[in-house]
Amino acid sequence: ESHAMNLADTIRAIPDYPKPGITFRDITTLLGDARAFRRAVDELVQPFAGLKIAKIAGIEARGFILGGAVAHQLSAGFIPVRKKGKLPHETVSITYSLEYGTDEIEVHKDAVKRGERVLLVDDLIATGGTAEGAVNLLSGLGAEVVAACFIVDLPDLGGADKIRRLGVPVRTLVSFA
Ligand code: 5GP
Repeated sequence: ESHAMNLADTIRAIPDYPKPGITFRDITTLLGDARAFRRAVDELVQPFAGLKIAKIAGIEARGFILGGAVAHQLSAGFIPVRKKGKLPHETVSITYSLEYGTDEIEVHKDAVKRGERVLLVDDLIATGGTAEGAVNLLSGLGAEVVAACFIVDLPDLGGADKIRRLGVPVRTLVSFA
């Protein structure tokens, strides 16, 4: 019996999206493939079982889909890291840099307790700006960010290395150079 499946083959490449010259890595095709979705979640959590992760922080929006599944698998809670203006209770926010300009993400102030062990989840890391913002936001609330995990790494953009330099281990499953 073979479980041979290449996760990379389940991710669709969309040329010139959202603008000319950019190849968007579309993970909706992975999510729609039952075996690939399960495999991706199982592989993401594999190093973290037994590490007493209290909460998963998922980044809006694709990090919610994966983060919910990862939280269930690790019997952890879930924290939504959202774009500015979407959360109803008191929040803390952070501005981070994009290729052009800046963006802002936020979490509820009471989303984590001091010292709580949190695993950050998103679908893809490119420049690492979004993940860096999320790490700083969670650390600022006193969380211990144990690691950050992503299905896709775009290593040429250096994001995973940027997060590792913050002292946060990074796990990725598929890399497109
Ligand atoms: P970064 O902040 O690392 O430059 O960009 C990563 C963020 O942008 C992630 O939240 C990710 O969902 C989104 N993103 C950027 N490029 C892509 C892409 O090609 N495919 C997908 N699925 N998400 C992307």
